[in-house]
Amino acid sequence: MATIKAIEDRSVHQIQSGQVIVDLQSVLKELVENSLDARATSIEVRLKNHGLDAIEVQDNGKGIAPEDFETVALKHYTSKLSSYDDLNSLDTFGFRGEALSSLCALSNFHITTAREQDGAVGKKLDFELSGKLKSASVSAAPRGTTIFVENIFHNLPVRRKELEKNIKREYGKALNLLYQYACISVGVRFSVSNQVLKGKKVVAFSTQSNTATKENITNVFGAKTLLALTKLDLRLEMISSVGPSTQSARNWSTQATNRSLEVQVQGHISKPIFGEGRQAPDRQMFFVNSRPCQLPQVSKAINEVYKQFNVSQTPFIFANFVMDTSAYDVNVSPDKRTILLHDQTALLDSLKSTLTQLFEQTDHTIPQSTL
Ligand code: ADP
Ligand code: MG
Repeated sequence: MATIKAIEDRSVHQIQSGQVIVDLQSVLKELVENSLDARATSIEVRLKNHGLDAIEVQDNGKGIAPEDFETVALKHYTSKLSSYDDLNSLDTFGFRGEALSSLCALSNFHITTAREQDGAVGKKLDFELSGKLKSASVSAAPRGTTIFVENIFHNLPVRRKELEKNIKREYGKALNLLYQYACISVGVRFSVSNQVLKGKKVVAFSTQSNTATKENITNVFGAKTLLALTKLDLRLEMISSVGPSTQSARNWSTQATNRSLEVQVQGHISKPIFGEGRQAPDRQMFFVNSRPCQLPQVSKAINEVYKQFNVSQTPFIFANFVMDTSAYDVNVSPDKRTILLHDQTALLDSLKSTLTQLFEQTDHTIPQSTL
């Protein structure tokens, strides 16, 4: 008798979902990105018991159309991408159509949603574990979408136990990521709160609907942090060995020649005179075309330059790398936090020399108001 058999669909779905949604941070990342993709200008994150009991993300975005109720939580159904070629011109955070379907498989999940034209009459959507729509019932709801995720990982007992054991640390990690979305999103009001059992709701942080990232940084980290920063506005030019800047990768092999690549680095960094005492992960934030991501090599390079001016501290960094979408690949990991920069070495060299010049010209006096 053959011993190799296909895993049943339900188990495959659960295994794959556990790779998309790995922890509290990934739940919040996916939901906040969906709200931003829906063009929300207000996003409210409400956690109960640090997210263990409930995670609610409410936005005032465009809402979900009734025609999409059946497919909204099905795996690989997305309104953002229809073919691989679209990846090069992607202007949304999501594109894999996996988050909502994974949350269905891993939690008690439902949605309420209403569009502008629905008035205050929205719909409450319930789903099966597979993501199939179970029911759509009338429910009072303001314009936008609220996603409810209760008892996350209730059917993955080992993962649930781990989360319960480390919940304070996981909550801290999730907040760090939310800071990044809140700081980079201009014109979007964020509010994040937590309510512990029978306790009062505590606001962890909030931003106003600011017009500049520096105002967001002030809301999240305080005015004192901002005073210690200098503006980053660098223009890096390098020769790229990667193919031409076309919307499609089709012609790469025939046309791959050297071309110049321009990268703008916009944001804020500590003046060398004020660093952060230690390297706090929440104090170094990187973005590629406004997408929060991890750039460990870039962080290392900036820290090295900074060290020449301040030996004992590391800088606060808020740096958005603006570049052609063909210069990197976001489809490396399901969470899209890892970004592959095609010309990393050239970029790091150029960044280091440009940053050194900036620090050489930076005003090294301490502002009066921080003395
Ligand atoms: P993806 O973001 O990769 O498309 P998701 O599973 O996160 O996949 O979401 C599936 C689809 O559900 C999205 O493409 C979008 O059309 C819709 N959607 C999800 N969240 C929201 C929201 N907050 N507001 C409006 N539409 C949403
Ligand atoms: Mg998404």
